[in-house]
Amino acid sequence: MSDQRPQEVDVVVIGLGPGGEEVATRLAEAGLSVVGIEQHLVGGECPYYGCVPSKMMVRAADLLAEARRVEGMAGHATVTPDFAPVARRIRKEATDDWNDRVAVERLEKHGARFVRGRGVLDGPSRVRVGDALFLARRGVVIATGTSPATPSIPGLSDVPYWTNRDAVKAETAPGSLIVLGGGAVGLEMAQAFARFGSGVTVIESLDRVLAAEEPEASAVVTTVLRAEGIDVRVGRTAARVEAAGDSVAVHTDDGAVLRAERLLVATGRRPGLAGIGLATVGLDDAAHVLRTDERMRAGEGLWAVGDITGAGLFTHVAFYQAHVAVADILGRDGPPADYRALAWVTFTDPEVGRVGMSEAQARSAGLEVRTGAAEVRQASRGRIHGPGNAGLIKLVEDAGRGVLVGATSVGPWGGEVLAMLTLAVHAAVPMRMLRTMHYAFPTFHRGMLDALAALDAAA
Ligand SMILES: Cc1cc2nc3c(=O)[nH]c(=O)nc-3n(C[C@H](O)[C@H](O)[C@H](O)COP(=O)(O)OP(=O)(O)OC[C@H]3O[C@@H](n4cnc5c(N)ncnc54)[C@H](O)[C@@H]3O)c2cc1C
Repeated sequence: MSDQRPQEVDVVVIGLGPGGEEVATRLAEAGLSVVGIEQHLVGGECPYYGCVPSKMMVRAADLLAEARRVEGMAGHATVTPDFAPVARRIRKEATDDWNDRVAVERLEKHGARFVRGRGVLDGPSRVRVGDALFLARRGVVIATGTSPATPSIPGLSDVPYWTNRDAVKAETAPGSLIVLGGGAVGLEMAQAFARFGSGVTVIESLDRVLAAEEPEASAVVTTVLRAEGIDVRVGRTAARVEAAGDSVAVHTDDGAVLRAERLLVATGRRPGLAGIGLATVGLDDAAHVLRTDERMRAGEGLWAVGDITGAGLFTHVAFYQAHVAVADILGRDGPPADYRALAWVTFTDPEVGRVGMSEAQARSAGLEVRTGAAEVRQASRGRIHGPGNAGLIKLVEDAGRGVLVGATSVGPWGGEVLAMLTLAVHAAVPMRMLRTMHYAFPTFHRGMLDALAALDAAA
């Protein structure tokens, strides 16, 4: 018999991805009575289908690429790719074969109560999970994240296709692969599978891949991918999809017909807001993002964190927002959410690190913009590195204030070089200070000096 009596708790968290799990854990640690609700796997997209397994694929693929660079640099290496260790590692070390037992135990050990099911808002401070009704004294936190979006392409629903959730479960690299979408998810997987021997085509409807990045970054990555044998088609849309024997055929808008063993759809994300009862708390039921204030409040007694806030589809954003929301729920003082120095990395090789504004964004914000860019291969470390040294550092200065408002670092460990650029934007370090500090020789981050010189020369 189901228990229909309302159960009073302090906080109910709906969705236990990185954002929700962090909120539930920290609030329970602080002594509140917390119920965490998850309909699928505690931990969310990142450990089971996203960041972690995809980066295990990328890491393995990068090893293959490095081994292929031995020739002419350090002797000879014969490389025989085998995807089996990657598939094994994803199952054992990342996903526990897509089992969240350990994550549930971790949550409960911190004192939160776990409920498996779909949480739905049932009015202010009320959440239903099946027959159970929870009343939240302090409030409700929505952290329902995103899932792969499916574009409306004729024929797509009639063919078997992969999303990121299927791709990370692959046990072998397909003989051939068409990737719809030239964003971060599509390109990381395209390059990883290609390095394992798949014949890969990427179809991107915009006029360049990684369209959110600086055009220079898109150009470098496109050149590298094409040099590795990936067929990158930009400005093309998939008009129709059909089964073709054991493969899938994609008809593009220019009349081309592409065939591959597998089709990976990586065209964006669908927010987990549909049907969760937003109207019952006075919000728009059709909303695609849940707007919050700088304390992550989405309404009275309602907080939202993670992908659904639209502030950036990244695990580190979900964690960052979780900490802001937790402080607010606990009535503690703390800095409000601030996205001026939002940073992220696309883990292609070369990696693309980005912080803050692009040049175009800074210009449309009306800033007095100066930019400077320097190629990695022209710098000492880039020359020493040799093969695999494509990349650049690009700086975007608000000359009115004499500080960086954005930067991009493409190259080997471009995501690590990003750290100092992020600090410069976040702390608004004066340009004169950046020009006069020490940069160890010969590091990749020393390319910053060349980028600063280019910026000064352009002034
Ligand atoms: C292939 C790929 C690679 C990625 N790589 C990176 C990376 O390298 N770095 C990075 O920072 N980010 C990366 N991301 C993004 C990252 O995974 C997400 O930004 C992050 O998982 C968002 O966390 P979240 O808590 O908002 O939501 P999610 O992780 O989406 O979790 C939301 C949870 O809520 C549950 N849920 C939804 N609705 C309900 C409901 N009504 N009731 C109960 N439960 C519900 C879902 O089942 C899910 O478990 C990647 C994503 C993908 C797809």
